[in-house]
Amino acid sequence: MKSKSKLQLIRNAVQLVFLVLLIAGIYTKMRMVLIVFLPAALLFGNFFCGWACPYGTVQEIFGKIGSLFIKKKLKMPRVVQKYLQYVRYILFALVTVGIGEAAFYYINGYMTFMGQFMAGFILDASFVIMISFALIALFFERPFCNYLCTEAAKYGIVSMVRIFSIKRNEDTCISCRKCDRVCPMNIVISDKKHVRNGQCINCLECVSACPVENTLTYGFTGLKLRNK
Ligand code: SF4
Ligand code: SF4
Repeated sequence: MKSKSKLQLIRNAVQLVFLVLLIAGIYTKMRMVLIVFLPAALLFGNFFCGWACPYGTVQEIFGKIGSLFIKKKLKMPRVVQKYLQYVRYILFALVTVGIGEAAFYYINGYMTFMGQFMAGFILDASFVIMISFALIALFFERPFCNYLCTEAAKYGIVSMVRIFSIKRNEDTCISCRKCDRVCPMNIVISDKKHVRNGQCINCLECVSACPVENTLTYGFTGLKLRNK
């Protein structure tokens, strides 16, 4: 077994540990997780989504089930992806300024029945969205992470200044584009010197897929604010 594949086995094992901890009721204090993963993202990028998010893991599990029936996952066309990837940041901005919360408390405070109705509706809607996106993940990789997750948006913004990232050795790269094809977040890696993209979840799938030794690696890049 190639050491690169071992990397993915290790990641999957870590993901399963977090999922089991959640099911066991131990991994419920999201603030504790934020205290560790969010500051770490400043330096190392977003490891939370690719390694510790239970719903990310659920989408990957559904994706693996889907692979039994569909050989090639669907990909969003680049031109659509370019714009659609910002939806989660817009949602994050709305949540941050508290428009939704303020509206909810306004309704709740002045119209109790409507408040209760809305609370129930939001809970039901969340459940339906979670189930729907898990099903979409059967044939499309990490759809919720890509377009709707405000948590991922937060990590994405913080990780833009990271000093460790994915690096591509232009001298040894054979432009096979395997890295692009396996990236669950639809990032084009094969024309960059290093990946500095808020969508990156540090899953290291690209590193695992690269057929040329030491061409795609995760390491120190320094503070370079733009993809090159
Ligand atoms: S998979 Fe490796 S060799 Fe192929 S394009 Fe990506 S970096 Fe280059
Ligand atoms: S660029 Fe690589 S590490 Fe980042 S999300 Fe894509 S496959 Fe994962």
